[in-house]
Amino acid sequence: MFKKILIANRGEIACRVIKTARKMGIATVAVYSDADKDALHVQMADEAVHIGPAPSAQSYLVIDRIVEACRRTGAEAVHPGYGFLSEKREFQEALAAAGIAFIGPDAHAIFAMGDKIESKKLAKAAGVSSVPGFLGVIKDADEAVSIAREIGYPVMIKASAGGGGKGMRLARTDTEAREGFASATNEARSSFADDRVFIEKYIENPRHIEIQVLGDSHGHVIYLGERECSIQRRHQKVIEEAPSPFLTAAVRAAMGEQAVALAKAVNYKSAGTVEFIVDTERNFYFLEMNTRLQVEHPVTELVTGLDLVEWMIRIAAGEQLTLRQQDVRIRGWALEARVYAEDPFRNFMPSIGRLTRYLPPEESANVRVDTGVYEGGEISMYYDPMIAKLCTFAPVRDLAISHMRRALDEYFIRGLNHNIPFLAALMAHPRFVRGDLTTNFIAEEYPDGFHAEDLPVEDPRLLVGVAAFIHRRHVEREATLSGQMPGHEVKVGSDWVVRFGDQNYPYTIRDIEGGYALEMGGPTVTVLSDWEIGQPFFRGVVNDDNDHQVVVQMDRHGIGYRLFHAGSRADVVVLTPRAAELAALMPVKAPPDMSRFLLSPMPGLLVSLAVEEGQEIKAGEVLAVVEAMKMENILRAERDGTVASIHARPGESLSVDQKIVEFA
Ligand code: ADP
Repeated sequence: MFKKILIANRGEIACRVIKTARKMGIATVAVYSDADKDALHVQMADEAVHIGPAPSAQSYLVIDRIVEACRRTGAEAVHPGYGFLSEKREFQEALAAAGIAFIGPDAHAIFAMGDKIESKKLAKAAGVSSVPGFLGVIKDADEAVSIAREIGYPVMIKASAGGGGKGMRLARTDTEAREGFASATNEARSSFADDRVFIEKYIENPRHIEIQVLGDSHGHVIYLGERECSIQRRHQKVIEEAPSPFLTAAVRAAMGEQAVALAKAVNYKSAGTVEFIVDTERNFYFLEMNTRLQVEHPVTELVTGLDLVEWMIRIAAGEQLTLRQQDVRIRGWALEARVYAEDPFRNFMPSIGRLTRYLPPEESANVRVDTGVYEGGEISMYYDPMIAKLCTFAPVRDLAISHMRRALDEYFIRGLNHNIPFLAALMAHPRFVRGDLTTNFIAEEYPDGFHAEDLPVEDPRLLVGVAAFIHRRHVEREATLSGQMPGHEVKVGSDWVVRFGDQNYPYTIRDIEGGYALEMGGPTVTVLSDWEIGQPFFRGVVNDDNDHQVVVQMDRHGIGYRLFHAGSRADVVVLTPRAAELAALMPVKAPPDMSRFLLSPMPGLLVSLAVEEGQEIKAGEVLAVVEAMKMENILRAERDGTVASIHARPGESLSVDQKIVEFA
């Protein structure tokens, strides 16, 4: 076995690999860029080597720097994680030349599976069921149309070098096939420097289901069941689960056997994933093979009880896979939700910045959190804005979903925007709960994007109960403060009003064992909790005939409280009946008119300004370019006007909603 390994990655996956290595008694070396000198993976590893500036093209993607880091530290093997160099054949070859083991498959398998056209040919030859299509390179738009007609619309035009959902176009007509050919070709050229595209049948309402395989260098290959990853946004996975609620035992076995056949065809060793799409009749078709550890591998680990990273390391060290197919048992149900620093209410715009407060849910037999961040750390604009992968495990799917809802309520993140409201809405969506999934789920259920109205509607009595409890504890404390002005002492009082939105909820409160009882019309609401002032979480039981175990996050907010529950945010104020009466008469403050300003839609760097003071502009004209997450965003004028003043200069870092230009 290796004594020391290097992890050529960052973030949660680097941390995850380090955990297993430590468990196996193997020393670890982290690598890091300028932006990551304080990162969690650097803190966790036994040693760390600086490999360059923040942009990954100058650090995590530089093969020579990684090989050099191995030489300097004496690391005998490298785990590449996912992304970065994990599927770069040149990396594998450079390591081999330096006598360093690669914890992954051999270069020939990476190469054979790295190209969609070539891998589909190979799959066909191995007897794997493939999407009907034309496995040749399309020359021009005319050929695209004639082949699309031959296959029969709808068709998918795809970049052979594609990945990450890039270079893919759906076409339902000749015109769309022409346009799709042009745009897929362009995108493939700019993203992969390889403009070959091919065409296959578009499978309507498909589900994405993939098979985990594990092979060793002695020719043993097994499959570890499937993962369903149909909940995708723009072809990127958001929620994954194992097993799939859709497969029958027979289909699972057929998919597993084909995946093994494909892996054997390329002498696959290590962990790999064979991706399929499955139509509504449970016909399955090979999509591609990922020759690395997948982001969503934890759900397989939870239902099989295996440590995939441990097996990858053992196999790379030449050990035999002692596990036989009949030893693999799938037990229970696991879900994974990808927690991202992005604003779901603003079209999932990345949200970078410092995690001013970060309390992940506690890990247990039911909850697993894979993360690479910590309180006070930063989510930078240079890398994927993932905060964590949150997994839950239970004997059955419904229970895994309810654990997930609770774990999302327990996830406390402040300082930047995150997608927990969106994840909570998905977990409460009746169609998700039924397991009625397709890869179009998000596009169909949230056609105009995600809005606060898409959140599950909660019984207001629940939040009123929690607000009343929290408020009572505050007034009780205030009433005991010494030095109060005679005649003006704070009275605990029993009649109050919770103001929530523009609604008033009057109630009468009294002490009961372990909490309070509220009369507010209808059945008495009891709220039991041991919550104390200062705690960020309110955990308790609210009962209005039924028991509701609740976890509510709370922040002080002005004179009131900001409560977070089930993805929703509610600002509440608790007032005396007289104050509530007066509050109802207060004029509502109109929000300021910001239409006179060009605001930065995201945190980023102001790359250039195209206008100057006094300039006349026309609607649609370019005003500025803001770079964020390695992407340039062009900001255009929404209407004709004149530039009155400039508020930011090129080179400046912008926060979200920062003023850039003011119009007259
Ligand atoms: P990438 O390598 O870019 O991730 P994939 O080939 O793995 O591309 O496809 C990504 C997703 O695109 C799939 O999970 C599925 O949702 C959708 N997709 C791909 N091919 C088809 C097809 N022929 N029909 C329907 N959907 C498809």
